Amino acid sequence: MLTNDQLAQWDRENFFHPSTHLAQHARGETPTRVITGGSGVYIEDRDGKKMLDGFAGLYCVNVGYGRSEIADAIAAQAKELAYYHAYVGHGTEASIKLSKMVLERAPENMSKVYFGLGGSDANETNIKLVWYYNNVLGRPEKKKIISRWRGYHGSGLMTGSLTGLELFHKKFDLPLAQVIHTEAPYYYRRPDLAQSEEDFVAYCVSELEALIEREGADTIAAFIGEPVLGTGGIVPPPAGYWKAIQSVLKKHDILLIADEVVTGFGRLGSMMGTTHYGIEADIITIAKGLTSAYAPLSGSIVSDGVWKVLEQGTDELGPIGHGWTYSAHPIGAAAGVANLELIDTLGLVGNAKEIGAYFNKALQDALGGHANVGDVRGEGLLAAVEFVADKDGRTFFDPAKKVGPSIATALLGEGVIARAMPQGDILGFAPPLCLTREEADAIVGATVKAVESVL
Ligand code: PLP
Repeated sequence: MLTNDQLAQWDRENFFHPSTHLAQHARGETPTRVITGGSGVYIEDRDGKKMLDGFAGLYCVNVGYGRSEIADAIAAQAKELAYYHAYVGHGTEASIKLSKMVLERAPENMSKVYFGLGGSDANETNIKLVWYYNNVLGRPEKKKIISRWRGYHGSGLMTGSLTGLELFHKKFDLPLAQVIHTEAPYYYRRPDLAQSEEDFVAYCVSELEALIEREGADTIAAFIGEPVLGTGGIVPPPAGYWKAIQSVLKKHDILLIADEVVTGFGRLGSMMGTTHYGIEADIITIAKGLTSAYAPLSGSIVSDGVWKVLEQGTDELGPIGHGWTYSAHPIGAAAGVANLELIDTLGLVGNAKEIGAYFNKALQDALGGHANVGDVRGEGLLAAVEFVADKDGRTFFDPAKKVGPSIATALLGEGVIARAMPQGDILGFAPPLCLTREEADAIVGATVKAVESVL
């Protein structure tokens, strides 16, 4: 068996890791972490260290680790037929069954699902579909996409542009010109602290209206947003936000893409974030929770209205010129079917609602009064604690102090994983949806210790 040192050396010499400080890692200043196993909400590394994964990987292992039902379905599919493509009407029993299961869980106006591999490629598909849609309708100028600051939609060329976080733009020559950004619905960080939630929603709406006015509605194809801002800081929307935004979009004939990569399939304590907030989307992006990351699979769910225009386009132009070799990969599809069945059998959506409420309250009770905790917020099993240098002024810590990452490191020392979100001192939690009260208590207890050790 390879030693840890040997693996670390090979890792430094050969492995280009995503979202990593490349120079530090190559110099051996950041550790190689080899994860070997997982069960329920716990993962284990090569030294046998057990950690409670309070972020479900990258908020994706929603059913928890070590589910043999999904592993068995993957193995059975691989043995029977590991691969065949999905072009020109081909499918497997699993991919066809999964398309039906997805539609049964989606809002009523949804019509079909296109399967990709991850959230980024699904959003790339969505933008292409929106452009195709407007071209078929004879509106070639209607192409720009509105995204929000702090939104996260992936890190491809277009999706990195949609993402409203500077880190993903810097030196990559993004965002592309077709993408324009508007205000994030981040009530805690509102520009005027005197604003009520209602006034802040009105402000977000007026910012959106002003942007549409400046750019011209006939140049704007779609608005993309996560029901709850995720990577940008885990920020549930203020009350009434989606309804208000949606009426602006409808008025200007702008499509709404709901990016449910994080919120889809139970994370908020409802099956979908769109139904949770009454969002009437034209396209919905799904990924992570679709297979609980047991295999890569994503989806673009399109509404009846969009689908009709796509059909019209292919009647005019021939087969749609879009597809991946691995679209609806049989192994991903088999994982998806077993995963969605398991979510139902274990009642995980209800559990996320119940334990989510318990967890959010426990975090609030334990940390809300701390002098350096500005905000504790969450919805279902998605939660965040935001740290500030001064509570009244809501001032940020000096970024050089790395308060968020230091707390996450201290927390790891306590055996619990949370995520230091990439912008601001925000600690994010998104545990597997099978979390119990005892496990929720363990996360909160360890977080209190970690915060006390740093602040
Ligand atoms: N959309 C949202 C809301 C996400 O959170 C993510 C990833 O975290 C993506 C899209 C991109 O998904 P992927 O990393 O699978 O490409």
